Amino acid sequence: MLGAIIGDIVGSVYELHNHRSKAFEPFFHPHAFYTDDTVCTIAVADALINGRHPAQALKDWGRRYWDNGGWGQRFAAWLASDALEPYGSFGNGAAMRVAPAGLLAGSVDEAIALARKVTVVTHDHPEALKGAEATALAIFFARRRVTAASIKDAIVERYGYDLERTADDIRPTYRFNDTCQGTVPEALVCALTATSYEDAIRNAISIGGDSDTVAAIAGGVAEALFSIPAPLARQGREHLPADMREVLDALYRSAGGAKPAPAQA
Ligand SMILES: [Mg+2]
Repeated sequence: MLGAIIGDIVGSVYELHNHRSKAFEPFFHPHAFYTDDTVCTIAVADALINGRHPAQALKDWGRRYWDNGGWGQRFAAWLASDALEPYGSFGNGAAMRVAPAGLLAGSVDEAIALARKVTVVTHDHPEALKGAEATALAIFFARRRVTAASIKDAIVERYGYDLERTADDIRPTYRFNDTCQGTVPEALVCALTATSYEDAIRNAISIGGDSDTVAAIAGGVAEALFSIPAPLARQGREHLPADMREVLDALYRSAGGAKPAPAQA
């Protein structure tokens, strides 16, 4: 979950000014900040840990950090309204916030069920559910020490995404895209072809597009594959206010620690 949050923070300064290279320094830009991706991820964790209705948790956290900005237009309208019903979205917000589902799940079926539960309250379009499921499942598998190659095969078989690519293949033609179907496959490629957590985030920034969200999705998966180096984890935490850090810590307590679980079949 912190992997997704760090991806969001690192990507925050590149969403409107794409960098399109893996070579950027420092890793945390002085003006980097957490955006809607982080606020929504915290809300999803709060909902799953504390048994809250996901729509209510999203509204509470979204309104508390409203001024942070970065909200999609339709999501912002939903946040501001009294509605607790979904609005048919297939935006990439479905996948950027779903990491806690992959971390808390004890089985494939539970990963899918938790992903759907927190997604359907706003993003009830089939492409959004698919993107959220695929992201949560990749995290679940990675935590169980399934190899990146096998995760790729499982996701391709189940969801039909084109993952037979590299960041170098994607970079020349990729453009801003805030749909699930135009973000999740690319973000998964960035994580599944990476050599480390940091390399996954650099892949994500390098392809351009909706950088904070691409990096958030890739970062959630990469954390489960590689775990986050301690100095980066510390810097990521330092960007968050205390109420968010509390939810983050509670999530890891519920999920059985920040590091991937022991190997399992
Ligand atoms: Mg954002």
